[in-house]
Amino acid sequence: MLEVEHLTVSYASAKGDVVAVRDVSFTLYPNEIMGLIGESGSGKSTMAYAILRMLKGNARVSQGTIRVLGKDIYQLSAEELRKFRWSHFSMVFQSAMNALNPVMTVGAQMIDTLLSHRPHLTRATAHERALELCELVRIDPRHLKSYPHELSGGMRQRIVIAIAIALEPSLVIMDEPTTALDVVVQRSIMDQIREIQKRVHFSILFISHDFSLVSELATRIAIMYAGQIVEFTDALSLENRVGFHHPYTEGLWKSIPKLLDREIVIEGIPGGPPDLLRLPTGCSFHPRCRYKSKLCTEKTPELKTYDTYEIACHHVLDKEEQHD
Ligand code: ATP
Ligand code: MG
Repeated sequence: MLEVEHLTVSYASAKGDVVAVRDVSFTLYPNEIMGLIGESGSGKSTMAYAILRMLKGNARVSQGTIRVLGKDIYQLSAEELRKFRWSHFSMVFQSAMNALNPVMTVGAQMIDTLLSHRPHLTRATAHERALELCELVRIDPRHLKSYPHELSGGMRQRIVIAIAIALEPSLVIMDEPTTALDVVVQRSIMDQIREIQKRVHFSILFISHDFSLVSELATRIAIMYAGQIVEFTDALSLENRVGFHHPYTEGLWKSIPKLLDREIVIEGIPGGPPDLLRLPTGCSFHPRCRYKSKLCTEKTPELKTYDTYEIACHHVLDKEEQHD
């Protein structure tokens, strides 16, 4: 569905090139929900924009390829790209909630999206489809006549999701789609995303800095640190505390409270993410890592497979011994 190979993205700045995504490779399979998680500034949105070919002015893909359904996104003409967007891949952003056109009813916006990509549709058929979409995201069809400001944040976000799936894309990238909502609305939107994905079938790249949200939805999770993916893991192994994990993943996991834990010990990760203009030598995480050795300060670890996990750490195995 989506193949990202050696993707490197940098922003030109007065102080030099800020490399926000470094040599990232992964594949997303049909109907798969993959989570992408990392602290603020780790490069998650930059990667999403690069995949959608929506990078801003001072950003550029300096290396790598991105293929959606086998097509190199950066080789498409502007017209091909326009057709590809929405029909084959689409996106839901946190800010999209406010990005609905304020002077158009939400129904008109849905119908416009449908008609501009499917010109053969009649207005009546597009309206039918808008009603179906409302049902899918559980919005009362009467709200098609509403303007965005007349709807709550949760309802607007549901409309944005409906527009994103209107043309039945195979891939939807969701960048923090529920961050601006309260936890109750957040929960109901997450349940709905899961339900819709089961009914309609599409792949999702779900980006968040909230481990608990991602681990609920995604079967596979990529963990990003300072522009690099340091681990691919699965939610179950984290929950059941089995398998190997990167020290950063462990830190992130330990920093969230778990309702069912008998003793609640929440640990933070000391320090903060590195300055991307002055990355530490070797493993970027070493200044914050309690397992670090001289090797970590000298050599950047590559992703290696342990069981079914992929981890970029020199000390995964020693770490497991310490646990035993
Ligand atoms: P968040 O969780 O806060 O959304 P993120 O993981 O999505 O963070 P990005 O927004 O991708 O992170 O930013 C990655 C890095 O790129 C950050 O260090 C940021 O400062 C830098 N960056 C982002 N946009 C620009 C820009 N236009 N010019 C220069 N640097 C930028
Ligand atoms: Mg972001």
